[in-house]
Amino acid sequence: SEALARAESLIVSIPDYPKPGIVFRDIAPLLADADALRATVDGLLEPFAGTFDVVAGIEARGFLLAGAAAIAAGVGLIPIRKAGKLPRPAASVSYTLEYADAAIEMHDDIAPGTRVLLLDDVLATGGTIAAAHTLVAEVGGIVTGTAVLLELDGLGGRSAVGDDNLHSLFHV
Ligand code: IMP
Repeated sequence: SEALARAESLIVSIPDYPKPGIVFRDIAPLLADADALRATVDGLLEPFAGTFDVVAGIEARGFLLAGAAAIAAGVGLIPIRKAGKLPRPAASVSYTLEYADAAIEMHDDIAPGTRVLLLDDVLATGGTIAAAHTLVAEVGGIVTGTAVLLELDGLGGRSAVGDDNLHSLFHV
């Protein structure tokens, strides 16, 4: 649609951020635009209507999409957080980023079999989304879909995740 094309045009590429040689894709201008934000949230949800009980947003930029998506879909929201932030018993999954280790966590109190739609802003190597799949399974949920705003093609993220129900709104 026209609104989605405009939304895509509002993603800004920042060379050499956060380090030399990296091109950072900044979605803040897209989020700041009312029509672009609405079209984006609708577009993220569109393939998954009726297939999930809750959305799970991945810290930090996944949170920005998950709140809006949960309200639009009429479901609740679960935060998947970086390590050490959750106050109650949580499952934890460690994974490797390009130059560092990371861990994400999720409270372990969801109802068994809860159908989860994972949301994040950018799919790069796929390490984060793959870890989120493991995490949801560990707490007894089922990932029925994954939606990302932007997939960086050519980094192998899609095959690393191995999810047939992975939907990327935009590609670069
Ligand atoms: P991956 O684990 O390598 O797929 O990296 C994905 C994670 O890193 C996501 O949570 C993104 O928020 C973040 N990320 C990686 N590259 C970018 C980017 O260019 N812009 C914004 N976030 C990014």
